[in-house]
Amino acid sequence: MSKNLLVVEDSRPIARVIKQIAESLNYQVTLATCLAEVEALLQGGENKFFAATIDYALPDANDGEAISCVLSHGIPSIVMTGKMDETTRQKILSQPVIDYIPKENSQAFLYLKRILHWQLSNQGNGVLVVDDSLSARNHVVELLKRRNFNVYVAENGQLALDILQQHADIKMVITDLEMPVMDGIELTNEIRKKYSRDQLAIIGISGANNGVHSARFIKNGADDFLRKPFCPEEFYCRITQNIENLSNIEQIQKSANTDYLTELPNRRAFIRDAEAAISEYINEKTPYALAILDIDYFKKINDNYGHEAGDHILKVFSLYLRKHFGNSLISRLGGEEFSVLISGLDEDQLYNRLEDFRRSISVAQISFEQQQINFSVSLGMIYSSDESLAKQMSLADGALYYAKENGRNQISIVGASEEP
Ligand code: GH3
Ligand code: MG
Ligand code: MG
Ligand code: MG
Repeated sequence: MSKNLLVVEDSRPIARVIKQIAESLNYQVTLATCLAEVEALLQGGENKFFAATIDYALPDANDGEAISCVLSHGIPSIVMTGKMDETTRQKILSQPVIDYIPKENSQAFLYLKRILHWQLSNQGNGVLVVDDSLSARNHVVELLKRRNFNVYVAENGQLALDILQQHADIKMVITDLEMPVMDGIELTNEIRKKYSRDQLAIIGISGANNGVHSARFIKNGADDFLRKPFCPEEFYCRITQNIENLSNIEQIQKSANTDYLTELPNRRAFIRDAEAAISEYINEKTPYALAILDIDYFKKINDNYGHEAGDHILKVFSLYLRKHFGNSLISRLGGEEFSVLISGLDEDQLYNRLEDFRRSISVAQISFEQQQINFSVSLGMIYSSDESLAKQMSLADGALYYAKENGRNQISIVGASEEP
């Protein structure tokens, strides 16, 4: 669902740029060009805005008056400002704004885009604040809440470990150094025994004006360090940078394990996950089946209808796989070859599920650019084997070859296929 953004800006060109940025992030934009318009918009009714960007100087509100007006309606706000002297800065920062952005150059709008993006995405990101001082904790919590994080608190390292275990959404821990029971360094150490730097960021905070603490934090596995007192700008830059790092790593890992065309797990992901799953099935004596699937005469689909039609078929085929085996391991091994690992039933039922899939593909009529395409798939399958995954895949491949030789659009089972 798209969120409403209030853009308060008297310059048309700037308003247009902000609108474009916001819409690219799926925001719905309402524009106000002066304070009077803002007041009219916000009058009465409940707040319907997720966030606002506010130009500091407006024709009828030259000195930031629109900021307090918008904030008083409970709308999280980003201030866009043309002038950036210390007085203006202090005046803006004395109010609970999300951030302020000097409109100095095009970087300002890239920065705005990042903030607007993270205001949406942070809603799924938990941050744990660990500090024995209530006031220090509250200060950090208040800054984080403005950025829409799910915030958790703990007053020492031991409690922090408990909370971390209970909340899988926690992506970042911000920890004080000196605390009773378990201090920040020990906490960092403990966290790193379970959570890698790819999974969780740790930022150390200390009031001591001794450079050694930052090094100690980092050497014990922290990603970053803040010295108290810190200004909100620095705090937000560090937080955002660390969250962006995590998100980039997640993205890279996802791409490395996902097929670009169908968005199914790729061969690498399948092998990793199937190896773990199969050893569990073997231990628990759960019946299972591994199948390799290959679309029949796929080259002809490309030749007759074009490569794009071929791509479309691969995507539709993947949707069918998800529909039939969504809770199991599935992958695109490459080209028009796929794999499925299913478990938990007896052999007849495993076979029937694959046979249902084969049949539903063989009767499907896929439309592509006013043409109806039908096609079929052949499968090679192997039941509950305790061979290595590589060996099982090669055996299933052999069975698949037999299914092709034997007329396609059929399942061939390892062991059964040698018989004439
Ligand atoms: P068989 O029934 O024996 O499997 O015949 P086939 O034509 O399906 O098998 P073959 O291996 O000869 O051809 C596979 C074709 O799949 C060739 C290749 O160009 C095409 N192909 C592989 N990857 C893609 C893709 O991502 N998109 C499209 N459109 N075609 C692809
Ligand atoms: Mg202006
Ligand atoms: Mg094929
Ligand atoms: Mg093939």
